[in-house]
Amino acid sequence: MKPLTSILNSLPPTKVIDAEINLSEYTRVNLSASNKELVDAKLETSKDFEEYIFNYLKEKNAKVAFGGYIEGRFLYQRSSIFLSEFAPERNIHIGLDLWTDAGTHVLAALDGKVHSFKNNEGLGDYGPTIILEHDIENEKFYTLYGHLSLESIENLNVGDNFKKGEKIATLGEASVNGDYAPHVHFQIIHNIQDYWGDYPGVCNTKDLNFYIENCPDPNLLLKIT
Ligand SMILES: [Zn+2]
Repeated sequence: MKPLTSILNSLPPTKVIDAEINLSEYTRVNLSASNKELVDAKLETSKDFEEYIFNYLKEKNAKVAFGGYIEGRFLYQRSSIFLSEFAPERNIHIGLDLWTDAGTHVLAALDGKVHSFKNNEGLGDYGPTIILEHDIENEKFYTLYGHLSLESIENLNVGDNFKKGEKIATLGEASVNGDYAPHVHFQIIHNIQDYWGDYPGVCNTKDLNFYIENCPDPNLLLKIT
């Protein structure tokens, strides 16, 4: 059987936000602790963060800032959901984030059906989240879309079918999305275990190898260069 990474590699590029935004209007953003400018900016609120992203996009003459797969971040320190008494702090991001305006359309990455959805409430969590199930070349895998608007999951049903590129949701505002600047967290999941409407998007160093294996780089699919 072909490994999932080869299947993803062989598929044509796909978009998960507003198809009218050209890939030339995407710009990579570094949100790791190695970004001195970001560390020095000491952003305290989602509003501060939104402003940082807004100015960054303006400076780059872009509409979408993307990145973050296997990125070590310090911005999770504000929320207790990433801490454990018994394990290293979870601060390595294992999805890909696309930062742009609230309300922007979120699109199905591939043909698929709704596996599950849930409002993961709480500071630093996903807020409304949708997981699609895909079956390609006899390989079953999942795509997760986090930090959506509440309306995105209002009239949704498990098993609903979506075509690649079809609108499935819109980006949520900070008030509903776990208190982040608006963005979609997009993640590929091979084995979803028993998760339902939720799946870890951030891990610790101890579990990193497992998650790299189970959650391949979303850009294998998006092919943003
Ligand atoms: Zn994310």
